[in-house]
Amino acid sequence: MVPPLRCEEDSMSPTLNRREFVASAAAGLAAARSAPALGRAPAVQAPRNVPPVVVASANGHRYTNGGTETCVETAFRRMTGGGDVLDALVAGVNIVELDPEDASVGYGGRPNADGVVQLDACCMHGPKRRAGGVAALEGVRTPSNVARMVADLTDHHLLVGAGAQRFARQLGFTIEDDLNTERSRRLWLDWKRRIDPGHYLDPDRGLDSDRAGEPAAAARRDGAGLDMLAEGVLTEDELYGTINCDGINAAGEVCGVTTTSGLAWKIPGRVGDSPILGAGLYVDGAVGAAGSTGRGEANLYNLASFLIVEQMRAGRHPLDAGMEALGRVRANTVEPRLLNGRGLPAFGLSFYILDRRGRYAGVSMYAGENSRYAVCTENGAELAPLEPLLEGSARG
Ligand code: ASP
Repeated sequence: MVPPLRCEEDSMSPTLNRREFVASAAAGLAAARSAPALGRAPAVQAPRNVPPVVVASANGHRYTNGGTETCVETAFRRMTGGGDVLDALVAGVNIVELDPEDASVGYGGRPNADGVVQLDACCMHGPKRRAGGVAALEGVRTPSNVARMVADLTDHHLLVGAGAQRFARQLGFTIEDDLNTERSRRLWLDWKRRIDPGHYLDPDRGLDSDRAGEPAAAARRDGAGLDMLAEGVLTEDELYGTINCDGINAAGEVCGVTTTSGLAWKIPGRVGDSPILGAGLYVDGAVGAAGSTGRGEANLYNLASFLIVEQMRAGRHPLDAGMEALGRVRANTVEPRLLNGRGLPAFGLSFYILDRRGRYAGVSMYAGENSRYAVCTENGAELAPLEPLLEGSARG
């Protein structure tokens, strides 16, 4: 096991440096002048002149659809150009949602077991303390925009299924009958043939595709996605893919967004961690942001994004806070079906984290071949390695 790197402890609470003290005092005075006395001031004030940064999962810095700018580049440009941070981040993830080649998010995302694309998303606006999400939403290519409308236009934080779609329709979003692309449909059909070869015949294998010697149906179902990975039919990001994108501007304003088609070929109606505040995303405007990709159920059980933000509130560096959350997930993973041959979690889970000072980290349960996350700073965008909690791989 790789021990977590020890990072400099954050001195945010008791000892502010001079610049932060001046900013904090000025903000305090302004607040005292303009706000009622009770319940207004957050526990810690965001410093001014933060180095702006946008972090995201790796698909936030990939050109797959002929575009000239990636998600993190777009978000960074808009945010540093004076745009609202959440507007900038949503514009960034829209690129990935609309990209038919990205089979983990939005249009062309992986459908559920019935072949229907059901999307989940949420967003949080740190300065405004507003949040919104949608789950199991069908027919809208950009669920992050609908989540934004839930945050901005309703008293609620989460709309699901038919209600979420009706809300989107009422607001003028185009509702499509089917968000599958040729590719997402082909992958679903491939999966279906593997798990149910008696009914979904594969013309390339001949009509008798339920051959003797092949594994039983249940084993096929469990292994079908992994087989498709091994055969290169699917990428790891497509089996477990999502985009989380978080940003902070020079004024210390933090926001985040997460959007996904969820687990490939999930039970219809299944909602993962992505649209759940505290799980797929958590933002506290005075502390920082954390969001995730990977096995949603493991994250939901531990509300790990909330845990990470609380760790940062207590003064921990984003890297240490992320490692703490991964350690918690690992400790709470006890069912044999979820453990590999070494008794360790048999799944991947990653977090993308930044704090109010503009410090950031990307952490994952294991280091895989594609263990990277996207970062954009004033020096440009790059893919940086995720820091793993555990050595080896999820498979054993
Ligand atoms: N976390 C997402 C979910 O469980 C899926 C993923 O990131 O792969 O729905």
